[in-house]
Amino acid sequence: MTAGDTIFALSSGAGRAAIAVVRISGARTATVLHAVAGGLSAPRQASLRKITDPESGEILDEGLVLWFPAPQSVTGEDLAEFHLHGSQAVIAAVLAALSRFPGVRPAEPGEFTRRAFQNGKIDLVQVEGLGDLLEARTAVQRQQAYRQLSGTPSTVFENWRRQLLLIRADIEAAVDFVEEPGVAEEAAASIDQRIAALADELTGHLARSSSAEIIRQGIRIVLAGRPNTGKSSLLNALAQRDAAIVSSVPGTTRDAIEISMDLAGFPVIVTDTAGLRSTGADPVEEEGIRRSRQHIAAADVLVWVVAPDIAESEKPDEGITPDLTVLNKADLPEREAGLPRNKLVADHVRTSTVSYIGITELLVSLTKLVRERFGSVESPLLVSARQKRAVEISIRLLNEAQALPAVALEVKAEVIRQACDGIGRLTGRVDVEEWLGAIFSRFCIGK
Ligand code: GDP
Repeated sequence: MTAGDTIFALSSGAGRAAIAVVRISGARTATVLHAVAGGLSAPRQASLRKITDPESGEILDEGLVLWFPAPQSVTGEDLAEFHLHGSQAVIAAVLAALSRFPGVRPAEPGEFTRRAFQNGKIDLVQVEGLGDLLEARTAVQRQQAYRQLSGTPSTVFENWRRQLLLIRADIEAAVDFVEEPGVAEEAAASIDQRIAALADELTGHLARSSSAEIIRQGIRIVLAGRPNTGKSSLLNALAQRDAAIVSSVPGTTRDAIEISMDLAGFPVIVTDTAGLRSTGADPVEEEGIRRSRQHIAAADVLVWVVAPDIAESEKPDEGITPDLTVLNKADLPEREAGLPRNKLVADHVRTSTVSYIGITELLVSLTKLVRERFGSVESPLLVSARQKRAVEISIRLLNEAQALPAVALEVKAEVIRQACDGIGRLTGRVDVEEWLGAIFSRFCIGK
């Protein structure tokens, strides 16, 4: 693979479609357009062209051609798009024709985006935003990803970097006066104040970042309770499909079963866990129970399922604090559990998976909980583990810089330089080679 090559790929999805988009980027794009599309069209304007195989002269298709001369293109290079009929035969013929040009080859996954990054068209935070946007399944994921892509967080990160550059310049200016009594102390005190303010700001953003990661991965709603309270049936009712095995033999759900859902735009993963019981479980079920406890510990929203025909089901185990209690099997008589149900728990939803009551109410309650927890907070700036790590390291360095004695101004300047580089790495302004492979490998060919 050579960076100087001209690359092409089918940029629209595979499979039958009305239109297929083939992109080509690099120095030989104009040559290719002359040969296959009868010349260059007006920049950034669609023109209807016959697409010809330059070797055989055969017309392969007729479609729109767009020509984006460098640097005004997404990759920053000469770039063209062919909007073809979405037939496999057309696509195959056009791709084959392109691949016969010397110095022109199929693109690697993510290579168009990589070139855009290398040519300064987008920074690394935007690349991550683009990756998230392509993977977004729900509205909230889309909004969060678009924010990254829009460049708003990048502006904030760049501002942090600039502040650090200024702080470092001021430290270096003070170094010359270190010998004069009191000067170093005075300079250090005011510099430390600025460092502390920035460290506070970074810490605040880091604290708010956990909800962003949860939005990317999906909010974990865990259904837990005693065996046979109807957790699997509830999961099925929520999924409106038979995702979990429903059985009346206690302990049938031996491992967690998950479904992904879109809850009012929030991506959620609902997990049905093996019922918790302390006696009568075989070793396989015990393993299931152990895993249930892990899922419960990792839950973002914990739902405890109770049923009137299951003794003691209303009392969760020590240390388990549900966010919501579901009184399932509401079709059964009220008092079978021993106590009037409405006295058991204050905040509850009544459901029946048999007469299908309360399922909508359960969805409404879950949506309310999810919104309260993940919807009202201001959208976080730091969304990926990579971004968080960069900020964590910078905070540590800022604290280190503050702790240095006033006479150690030169060391302070060096530590600030490192913190500044750390922030620079966020957007990719500073050497990020180690991250590039991981970030670009998420992209498909043609992106
Ligand atoms: P889990 O062990 O908690 O996952 O419970 P299951 O979903 O496997 O259900 C256990 C038993 O309770 C099965 O026989 C279900 O048919 C039954 N069941 C589940 N939900 C209801 C309900 O709302 N009403 C009644 N009457 N039975 C239910």
